[in-house]
Order: sequence, then structure tokens, then C-alpha cells
Amino acid sequence: MSNYLATIGLEIHIELKTKNKMFCDCLNDSEEKHPNLNVCPICLGHPGTLPKPNKEAIRSVLKLGSALNCHLREISKFDRKNYFYPDLPKGYQISQYDMPFCENGYLEIPFINPQTNLFEFKKIRIRRIHLEEDTGRLIHENNKTYVDFNRAGVPLAELVTEPDIHSAEEAKKFCEELQLIIRYLKIANADMEKGEMRCEVNISVKKEDEEGLGTKVEIKNLNSFKAVEEAIKYEMERQIDLLEKSEKIIQETRGWDEKTQKTISQRKKEEAHDYRYFPEPDLKPIKVNEEFDLEEIKREVPELPNEKRLRFMKEFGFKPKEIEELVYDFELADYFEKVVMELDALKPLEGERREKRIKLAYNYLITDLRALMFQNNYKISDLKIPTNHFALLINFIDENKISSAAAKSVLAEIFESGANPEVIIKEKNLFQISDTSEIDEIVKKIIAENPNPVADFQKGKANALQFLVGQVMRETKGRYNPNIVQERLKSLLTTKE
Ligand code: ADP
Ligand code: MG
Ligand code: ZN
Repeated sequence: MSNYLATIGLEIHIELKTKNKMFCDCLNDSEEKHPNLNVCPICLGHPGTLPKPNKEAIRSVLKLGSALNCHLREISKFDRKNYFYPDLPKGYQISQYDMPFCENGYLEIPFINPQTNLFEFKKIRIRRIHLEEDTGRLIHENNKTYVDFNRAGVPLAELVTEPDIHSAEEAKKFCEELQLIIRYLKIANADMEKGEMRCEVNISVKKEDEEGLGTKVEIKNLNSFKAVEEAIKYEMERQIDLLEKSEKIIQETRGWDEKTQKTISQRKKEEAHDYRYFPEPDLKPIKVNEEFDLEEIKREVPELPNEKRLRFMKEFGFKPKEIEELVYDFELADYFEKVVMELDALKPLEGERREKRIKLAYNYLITDLRALMFQNNYKISDLKIPTNHFALLINFIDENKISSAAAKSVLAEIFESGANPEVIIKEKNLFQISDTSEIDEIVKKIIAENPNPVADFQKGKANALQFLVGQVMRETKGRYNPNIVQERLKSLLTTKE
């Protein structure tokens, strides 16, 4: 079998989370359960009504374009895309044809190189991002079809990539990273399962050494990142099989069938629509530079995931996998950064000592605190523990002033109340004793009471030492620092010889 190369381009629709619809004052409320409530003569396409563009939606798409390194057009316009379908009341969709708001950008998808354990980035070019309106929704029930126009006229951003993607994993990663950026920008929720982000895959396959690109097939109906990945894997195999049998690939639209995990032919090229695009006569072209403050829009773009990845790597010395936990939850990441600032303010440390304490804070945050948040269904904004209290607790652990068991119970308590951990630790007498003369007394007692383990240790059994440490810890209810106990035990046992 020859070597084949798959080529993939994506067309992605994103429902923007604006207050109102794209061309009227109806609410853009995806949670509205009652059908046909958020409608008006404009979004229902009544004759004689006039659309007016939603500035918030345009700002959102310009923000996305800036975040994705696009050229923002100075003049942009809307066009009519004409077709008939029962979910489209006007008989056309207002979209953009040849003058989209954003063009020629790129997104760098991150990968972790397993050899170096460092981030690597692959650039995927973005051809365009334009703005259009969503259609209504058809509901098929009991052999009847109902139509709900609540979604008709909701602003949709459509992003089209160049055919720069070459595997199912890359395509999935692109969608995930785009969703993450959209969430950082707070312009949409972009949940694929809810249809807030819809991804169409264009895919062709060719022999590796062949010039140009193969015939492409478009796949629709992909409702999750997983579906994007699985559909591409399936389609690659299907197309390679055809080529191996010297059969032709037909340019067509195929639908992904979740049940059978196969793509099914839906529409051939000959049956494709002619949309008869023409400039929307009811809307003036938009002078983007004059009507929008582009500098302000660019300033509103926050630190993006890739910038965060590289900065966290440099500042905290974390591994990519550790960083991803924070990058995927920017509110948690912000909380963490404040904790680090509080730690530095509490007691400045340098080099490895500082990194060790930061790592400790990270582990308590990602494991223990996040588990508590999960159990209580908390978001970061629900959290009662101020960052300085969290930092204080971490510092006590770092300085061996409390045991990790005690730390966990204190954390659970301040999670409930937000209280200062120091107060609780004092109240409950949880500070570990590090004073060796006091420890030595107990250690001597335990040595005297356990002749057999002592003998074992002296014969070289390491386990015996752990047993003795355990005995001291039990006797003192964990109030001594186990490291110091171990050290004193060793020292007293060896000087005895
Ligand atoms: P169409 O005119 O059929 O819509 P476009 O040129 O607009 O095709 O491209 C649509 C999407 O398909 C883009 O994302 C593009 O990158 C991708 N694409 C174009 N040609 C190919 C190809 N031969 N194989 C894979 N993807 C392709
Ligand atoms: Mg197209
Ligand atoms: Zn309306």
C-alpha cells in the first residue's frame, strides 16, 4: 500500500453570546424553553421590515479576529444568501460573501513533544471569519415537524481554515483550542454538544508524492470533539480504500452517523445549491475603522492560552501536563497566580525552594481544593477561601509546621468558613513540634518499648524504622514532624551501638 496524506479544512460556526439577535432587538436567549417567544417582524422576515446590525456581535467577531491574528477589513458588508428551507423565514440568510470582517489569520495548536516534554506549536491558517444569522430550529415529534424561531437571527460567526490540517488529532485539537480561545474572550459558550459550536470537516486524501490536493468530501452533523476525530479517521480509511481499488472519490456532502460510527452520503456536488449571493440592499457597508474603536477591541483581548502556557512554563517551571490543568480553567489559573503572589509576599524564597513551594500550592489546589469544589459544585467565584489564607496554609505545610493530614482537615474547614488557617491550627493544637529535646524523650521511650523492631533495624531492615516512626506518631497523635522523628530515631539508634 502507498503512503497517503490526508488534507483537512474546517468550517466552524459559533453562536455568539450577545444580549440581542443580529438584526433586531429580540433577546438572544438559548435557554428559552418556550418556542417562538423571542421573535419579532424583523427576524420573522415580515415584508417591509428593516434589519439593523448588532454592534456587540460585530465587536465580538472583531475580537475573535484579533485574537486569531487576522487582518480586520476596513470596509465590510453583508450579503444575501438565497435558499428555501422551513427554518429560514426570510427565504434568505444575511451573511457575508466577499468582504468578511476578518481575513488571513492563524491559530497555533499546541502539542506536547513526548521526547522533550515541551510545548510545540503548529500553525493553521485561517482564511476568514464572517458574521451571519442563525436559522430557526425544526423539531420532529410524533410524525409532525414543528418550527421554533427563537434561534432565527441569532448572531453566528463562521470561521473557515485553509487546508492545513493533516490528521484527526490535529483537527480535534484545533476545535478544542478554538473553543478555549472563545471562552477566554467570553464571546460565546461554544459547547459542541449544545450546538453552540458546529464543525464541518472538509477532507481529501492523496498519495503522498502527488501534486495538488485530492477530491474533498464534506462531513456534517458532528456534535462533539470526539465525533470530529472519529469521523475523520473513518473517512480517511474509506477514501484510502477507494483509491487502493483505483476507484474515484466523489465530491459530496456526507453526514456522520453516531450509531454506526460511519459517514453516509447526503448530497452530491451536482445537487449543490446556487445561493445567488448579492449585496444586502437593506444594510449599508460598514466602515469598520470609523465605526469601531479597533485599538480598544485589541486591548480587550486577554492573555491567550498559548501565552499563558509559555509564561507558566517560564515562571513556575511546570511541565506541560501540569500547565494544561490551569490553562483549561483560567479562573483557577488566576486564583493560583494570586496565591503565588501571596506566598512571595509572605516570605520571599528563591530558586528551587521557591519552586518547591509553588508546586506544593499547585498540588493542593489541583487535587484537594478542586475535589472540594467538585463535591460542593462550586465555581471559583463561589470560593470562600481568600488567596492569602490559602497561601498561609501552604506555607505552614512547606515549613513542616503541620502534617499533611492536618493540612487536609484544615483545608476542609476553611473551605466551609473562609477562616484564617492559623487560628484553626492553634485552636486545635495542630502545629507540629520540631523541638528535638522534646521529641527525643518520646523517641527514647518508644525505643525502650520495642526491642524487637529495634533489633531488626540494627540488622539492616529499613521497614523497622518506618514502624518505629509510626509508633512515635501514634503516641503523639501526629503532632511531631515525621522527618525530624525519623532523623532523631536514626541518630539515637546508631549512637547506641
Ligand atoms: P467550497 O467552495 O467547496 O466551499 P472552499 O474552497 O470554500 O470550498 O473550501 C472550504 C473548506 O474546505 C476550507 O476549509 C478549505 O480549507 C477546505 N478545502 C478546500 N479544498 C480542500 C481539499 N482538496 N481537501 C481538503 N480540504 C479542502
Ligand atoms: Mg465553502
Ligand atoms: Zn426579532
